[in-house]
Amino acid sequence: MMTRRVIRVLVVFLNTGGGHRSAADATAEALRDLYGDRVRVDVVDVTREYFSWPVSKLDEMYEWLIRMRAWPWAIVYHLTDGARRFGLVGRGVGWLTGRSIGHLLAEHPAELVVCCHPLLRAPLARGLRRAGKGRGLITLVTDLASGHAAWFVPPGERWVVATEGTRGRAAAMGIPTECIEVSGLPVRRCFVNGARRDPVAARRRLGLDPDSPVVLLMGGAMGTGPLLQLVRAMANSGLWAELVVITGRNKSVYEKLNSYKWSLPVHVAGFVSNLHEWMEAADILVTKAGPGTLSEALVMGLPMVLCGALPGQERPNVDYVVANGAGVWAPTPAEAAERVQELLERDRSSLMRMEERARILAQPDAARRAARVIWGAAEECSLDGSSVI
Ligand code: UDP
Repeated sequence: MMTRRVIRVLVVFLNTGGGHRSAADATAEALRDLYGDRVRVDVVDVTREYFSWPVSKLDEMYEWLIRMRAWPWAIVYHLTDGARRFGLVGRGVGWLTGRSIGHLLAEHPAELVVCCHPLLRAPLARGLRRAGKGRGLITLVTDLASGHAAWFVPPGERWVVATEGTRGRAAAMGIPTECIEVSGLPVRRCFVNGARRDPVAARRRLGLDPDSPVVLLMGGAMGTGPLLQLVRAMANSGLWAELVVITGRNKSVYEKLNSYKWSLPVHVAGFVSNLHEWMEAADILVTKAGPGTLSEALVMGLPMVLCGALPGQERPNVDYVVANGAGVWAPTPAEAAERVQELLERDRSSLMRMEERARILAQPDAARRAARVIWGAAEECSLDGSSVI
């Protein structure tokens, strides 16, 4: 009996926000869909499973930092956004994580490692070099229209990026263009399958009024941004709609939203595993400009009112969505409420145009495109034992 060689791929991320995990899961899912039992994919959250204190708390530190105000994060982002400037931080992270990365690579002897977090790249490159030839590294950049320097330091292998904007940033960092593939940002199958939306059916399934417009509000996996103020502004605007607020891991805003009596129906949910259904039910999404959420909404043809963006990695996403006509920018709760009311009650034709533009901009095939690049590289490594590093 002929035995077929199984190629092993290790997909790793850190749990800062939710976008890295979503892109990792979407890519793993596409690899399994395309290559079935020829591939074995392990997806690992390195933060929790391998890092020890203090780096095991990176997700909490990130959450704390971005919840404060925009400027502390802006300072950290821009101060480290350069090859030499990040070099120092990278060495520090490498020193703190070297042993954990060694354990990770020893316990997951994959032909190819897919890195879905900028802070993991340098330690992984070093760990793989130490482990010897025969194992490759591909970096899947989970930013949408930009890319922090950390994604590209040190230079050396292959990158899969979401847009031409990120390819440009990679090229500016000295990465040869033949090492960069543009695939779109990988989005999970449930969003792609839900792209032909049937809002009325989805509302019935979710216990919403099928005849009332639905506004979906969220702030990434951590429920970041002024969700409470947004709901208040919408309630005060006289808007006729049901509001669904997904607070993610933000327990405090979840409790506050539930403790008030609102003048319009407000459904509050914490972290949900069926976001695609809530997107299907909605007429409009009010959100910060997180790359994962935006890519999913584009795939589902859901018009967006963007009400916030982290400085650095998320601000270019606003221009990407707005310049392409799939959303509008409304940086204060009052403006967001006004735009939502205008679009739902007085300007339905703009809403329909935004839906069309979203579908044009969407990259529903991104996960499969990324998976094909990854598979090609993994096959190279497994065939001749040579590394793409
Ligand atoms: N998400 C989810 N359930 C929730 C909230 C968010 O599955 O209740 C997912 C969402 O689908 C997206 C990711 O978390 O893929 C958020 O990523 P994004 O890049 O938008 O923002 P981040 O959380 O990284 O700041």
